[in-house]
Amino acid sequence: MKNDFKDLIVFIGPPGAGKGSLSQLCTSQFGWMQLSTGFLCRKHIAEQTPIGKQIDFSMKSGKLVDDALIVQMVEEWLVAHASEYHGIILDGFPRTVTQAQALAALLSKKVPFCRLNVVRLTACDTTIVERLASRFVCENKDCQKVYSVADGALQPHKMGKCDDCSSSLVRRSDDHFIRIMDIQ
Ligand SMILES: [Zn+2]
Repeated sequence: MKNDFKDLIVFIGPPGAGKGSLSQLCTSQFGWMQLSTGFLCRKHIAEQTPIGKQIDFSMKSGKLVDDALIVQMVEEWLVAHASEYHGIILDGFPRTVTQAQALAALLSKKVPFCRLNVVRLTACDTTIVERLASRFVCENKDCQKVYSVADGALQPHKMGKCDDCSSSLVRRSDDHFIRIMDIQ
C-alpha cells in the first residue's frame, strides 16, 4: 500500500538536548519544513492579517497570545501547505495542554493525511550544561540558527557570524546563567 502520510514532527526534551540542531539537520538533509510559530506570528503581524492584528494587540498589551489564535494560525498554515512537504517540524507548538488537545482535534478533522511523531531527546546533565555553555544563536529572529563553539560540526564558518544570513551570533539570554564549575 502506498504511504501518503505527511509527517508532523515534534521534538521534546530539555534545553540543550539537541532539538534545534536536529531540526536544522532534518531541514537541510531531508528538505523538511520547520514551522516556527514565532515566525508565523511575526509574518501575520507584518502582513496585518486579522490574526496578526489580534496577536499584535495582545503583545502590545503585555498579554499572552491566546491559545485559540495560535491554533487557528497553525491550522490555516497546515491546511494550506502541509501537502507540500514530506516532513514538517513543529517549532514552538504545541506549548500548552490546550494547544496539544487542539492539535489532536486538528489532525483528525482538518488534516487527516498528517500523522504526528513525537520524538523525545534526552542527554545527561553534564552534556546539557556543556552544550548550553558553548551555545550561540543567530540574532536574526527569522533565522535563529544554533551554533556551538565546542562542537566542530556546529561551528560557524566565520567567527561570530551566521553562515546562512551573516547576522551576528549571540548568547541566548537564558544561557547566560550557565557557567561550568568543576567541583572536586
Ligand atoms: Zn542567521
